[in-house]
Amino acid sequence: MAELQTLIHLQEYDTKIAALETEAVRLPKQIETIQASLAEARKSVETVKARVEQTRKDLRAKEKDLDDIAAKRQKSEARLWEVKNNTEYSAVLVEIETIKSQKARIEEELLGLMEMQERLAVEVREAEARHKTREEQARQDEGVVRKKLAAVEVELTGIRGERATLAGELPRNNLADYEKILKAKAGLAIVSVSTTAICGGCRVTMRPQVLQELKAAAELVRCESCGRFLYWQDTP
Ligand SMILES: [Zn+2]
Repeated sequence: MAELQTLIHLQEYDTKIAALETEAVRLPKQIETIQASLAEARKSVETVKARVEQTRKDLRAKEKDLDDIAAKRQKSEARLWEVKNNTEYSAVLVEIETIKSQKARIEEELLGLMEMQERLAVEVREAEARHKTREEQARQDEGVVRKKLAAVEVELTGIRGERATLAGELPRNNLADYEKILKAKAGLAIVSVSTTAICGGCRVTMRPQVLQELKAAAELVRCESCGRFLYWQDTP
């Protein structure tokens, strides 16, 4: 019976097509993952650079504070010559002491910011190096995946064409049944039955009569349980 062989071949094509279609969906996702990881590396460079910029602004502000405090101190020191009595004199001295401690605090903060600046400069270099390495790796990886994807698409086009030719050889009702089962039964429309007499699709045991019909192979036989087409195969 020619139809049976055609159905078996058709199933081989459809199994292959399903695998290729899975690849055609998976590979673009892989490319997205590669690009996302690269974007992540780029973002971390930008984050560190933003911190560098913020530190630079903070430094400037502190330097300005320091200038202000120097001016304030000059004013206070000038007032020491203008005060009228001891009480006022002591008050100005206290003021100057306060200013001095403010200056010391700001200088300490400045020092901290400068250290931070140095640390960040190292971080920027490291993040940029990491980004560069990843960029190179990503370009290579993406190239490999894109090549694979192109090959998959070429193969799919070819195999779909061959499948269409083969499908044209089947009587229309057989093909319609086959495709209906293929869709309903997870891409498996024709399965083998061996000496164990179990349906290769749903694992249900054949009735002896069905098994006889199958061995005779005079007409297409379908599993009474899952509806798949069956073919006899001696070896289990
Ligand atoms: Zn079955």
